[in-house]
Amino acid sequence: MSETKRPLETDILVSGGGVAGLTAAAAFGSAGFTTICVDPTPPVTEEGANGADMRSTAFLQPSRKVLEAAGLWSRLAPYAAPLQVMRIIDAGGERHEARLSREFDASDVSDEPFGWNFPNWLLRREMVAHLAGIPQVDFRPGVATTGLVARESGAEVTLSDGTHVRARLVVAADGRNSFVREAAGIGTRTTHYGQKALAFAVTHPIPHDNISTEIHHSGGPFTLVPLPDREGKPSSAIVWMERGAEAERLAALPVEAFEAAMLERSTGLLGPLKLETRRALWPMITQIADRFSGQRVALIAEAAHVIPPIGAQGLNMSLADLACLLRLCEEDPAHLGEARMLDAYHRRRWPEVKAREIGIDLLNRASMVEARPLRDLRAGLLGALYSFKPVRKTLMRAGMGMR
Ligand SMILES: Cc1cc2nc3c(=O)[nH]c(=O)nc-3n(C[C@H](O)[C@H](O)[C@H](O)COP(=O)(O)OP(=O)(O)OC[C@H]3O[C@@H](n4cnc5c(N)ncnc54)[C@H](O)[C@@H]3O)c2cc1C
Repeated sequence: MSETKRPLETDILVSGGGVAGLTAAAAFGSAGFTTICVDPTPPVTEEGANGADMRSTAFLQPSRKVLEAAGLWSRLAPYAAPLQVMRIIDAGGERHEARLSREFDASDVSDEPFGWNFPNWLLRREMVAHLAGIPQVDFRPGVATTGLVARESGAEVTLSDGTHVRARLVVAADGRNSFVREAAGIGTRTTHYGQKALAFAVTHPIPHDNISTEIHHSGGPFTLVPLPDREGKPSSAIVWMERGAEAERLAALPVEAFEAAMLERSTGLLGPLKLETRRALWPMITQIADRFSGQRVALIAEAAHVIPPIGAQGLNMSLADLACLLRLCEEDPAHLGEARMLDAYHRRRWPEVKAREIGIDLLNRASMVEARPLRDLRAGLLGALYSFKPVRKTLMRAGMGMR
């Protein structure tokens, strides 16, 4: 009998095999739930290959616990670049020079670093390899979710290869244009900034000393995040946010001119920066789904929320979604995917995500300002917030997602 006639039965269908979806599949599978994970784009697991994800992800402390529970941390740890200090530089004066620099040291609030940074293509490589060893997980790259009919009793899902799946819970991890979210009739609220981010990796002569640096001038932050050494040279991932037209101009510059522009924008902090990868361009938006759940459906990660990459919040919020959903499923597996469980998920996650979205939106707008008096005001505010130690510690804890 063909698969189209007899549906596959599973506890959970994860739609989307980005970093969030792969982690979700590992976490649910490790917790003993039968899990099918599908993604139309087979994961690109080499840095130099076409379509490789040039972003990096700094997993903050609470995310490490999620990765440990999913059995992933021991696999990833050898590739981690720890982030001990977060430095914020205001370079909003007449020239690209640091006029105010403040360092937030993780040792003020914890015995551990703030987080650990990894290239996204490497995360995909290790996560896909890990899934192959979890018997409860059936990962199907090259296959999309193309249909969803959700009933009180369960969800009927159609896949692009004609397979029908009956799932007790569908986890939408299929990104900012989520098919599952649309099929579940859940709307979104979206803000466009007219900004784009360039993401790439560099090497530099001066070691980063495990310090992540955000430099603010205008147009958006320029962020250097430590990576492990690359062929013996200190290396960092860079996210450079600018107004759209300027970001496109920078992306098209010949390498030498681009490296000169980077040196100026980085205030020369780590010496001349050598471009080591291609430059990927990402449009910047803030987006939040009206609800994080529908019948038999839970939205996680960018299917639920998208924010500009400031303070390493995006994927960390996604893993907090996952931790919350997993806890609810483990507490009451007999009622997996039922309305009460999914309402609780929505109620716990939506307000927390909304609050972070508002904070990041404000930080981004502050970083974009062009007018000199506003740039001066921004520098003044940073100095004032920093100088008051209890406020500083509270901000550090909040940024990490610690309670
Ligand atoms: C420049 C940049 C830097 C960032 N840096 C950080 C950082 O340091 N720390 C941090 O926490 N966050 C960071 N973020 C945010 C983070 O990268 C994102 O939150 C995260 O990658 C999104 O993961 P995702 O799995 O939700 O989405 P995606 O990576 O977009 O994955 C969605 C997947 O769904 C698949 N899909 C699409 N349609 C279907 C379908 N119909 N059926 C099945 N699958 C489907 C897609 O093929 C894709 O693989 C950054 C973001 C940007 C833009």
